[in-house]
Amino acid sequence: MTPSHLKMFGKENAMPEITKGVYFIPGQDEFIPDSHVYVIGMPTSQDLSIVDAGLMGKGGYKIQSVQKLGIKLLDIKRIIMTHTHLDHIGCLKEIRAQIPQAELWIHEEEAYPIERGDERGVYGMEMFRSMCQSQYGLKPGDFKFKVDRKLKEGEKLDIGGLSWEVLHIPGHSAGSIALYDRSRKVLIPGDVVYADYAIGRFDLHGADGAVLKNSLLRLAELEVEVLLPGHNRVVKGVKPGYIRDTAKQWAPYLE
Ligand SMILES: [Zn+2]
Ligand SMILES: [Zn+2]
Repeated sequence: MTPSHLKMFGKENAMPEITKGVYFIPGQDEFIPDSHVYVIGMPTSQDLSIVDAGLMGKGGYKIQSVQKLGIKLLDIKRIIMTHTHLDHIGCLKEIRAQIPQAELWIHEEEAYPIERGDERGVYGMEMFRSMCQSQYGLKPGDFKFKVDRKLKEGEKLDIGGLSWEVLHIPGHSAGSIALYDRSRKVLIPGDVVYADYAIGRFDLHGADGAVLKNSLLRLAELEVEVLLPGHNRVVKGVKPGYIRDTAKQWAPYLE
């Protein structure tokens, strides 16, 4: 989840390839935000991954955007979730209907609840759940999925001709992960840290401010040149110390 007053700017839409083998499909926010999607993998590898899905109703747009990149749906081998909030998992079912061969990979902390049909972490709070269920006609069990691979801290994913480290960075949600390409200094942090000194909220089910602070400090140790968050602006040419400065600004609120 993210503050909805921050909107995408159109500029990035014109340049969907952020860097070799990393493609950007901007979210289309409604009154609830729609997460960005990143497609990762070298186009010739035929081993591509989608990172996150998005809001309910946005599956068709995301799939069309993938096709517009010239990517064959059959080459998409998996969907990796940075975490399972509604604005990321909402259209997962729609997307999977178009790419049934794709596996689903989620960090173990959120994979088990998703497999059990425990949707507290999806909706984040009870009031939001009842609002969304009436607004979108959602039913209990709509976000129950079998998870093909339960990701763990420190795993190395050599996929699509690229190499990504899985970093478990809880605090925004229990099973939030970042994907980090160390050699190219590319970070996909989900909703943990955004551009413009913003961070993810830490008041929902499974969230914890003090834990989020530690996760931010951990990300601050990384060299990051390309920051690809779940919402709002993407940043190429991140200035050194950016995540550390962000963590410092928020530290008093994260106890
Ligand atoms: Zn989000
Ligand atoms: Zn989130």
